[in-house]
Amino acid sequence: MNTIDLRRRRWLLLGATAAVAATLSPRLRAQGTLPQLDEADATASALGYRHSTDSVDAGRYPNHRATQMCNNCKLAQGAAADAWRPCGIFPGKSVNAKGWCAAYAAKT
Ligand code: SF4
Repeated sequence: MNTIDLRRRRWLLLGATAAVAATLSPRLRAQGTLPQLDEADATASALGYRHSTDSVDAGRYPNHRATQMCNNCKLAQGAAADAWRPCGIFPGKSVNAKGWCAAYAAKT
């Protein structure tokens, strides 16, 4: 086998891998298999993200209301029934349906 054949094989393999990843990625997101956002993550911490809206720092966020949570935020993605959902603010991570952060925007 010559060098050109090996290069061609590698490119075909890379293309096939990318195609499979592109096909599976939306499915993985839809299944809620994204890694869970860590509350200690720098962006999460800056936005006061908590896995439970009940544990939001009221002193830091006086406008927070206990009824506000990821499940009724318009930035949440995925299915409403999922316990962990993708969020437009934290790409590649999932947030708790009962969580909250300062970017909360009520669904209208
Ligand atoms: Fe939850 Fe909305 Fe904040 Fe995302 S933006 S973490 S869905 S409150």
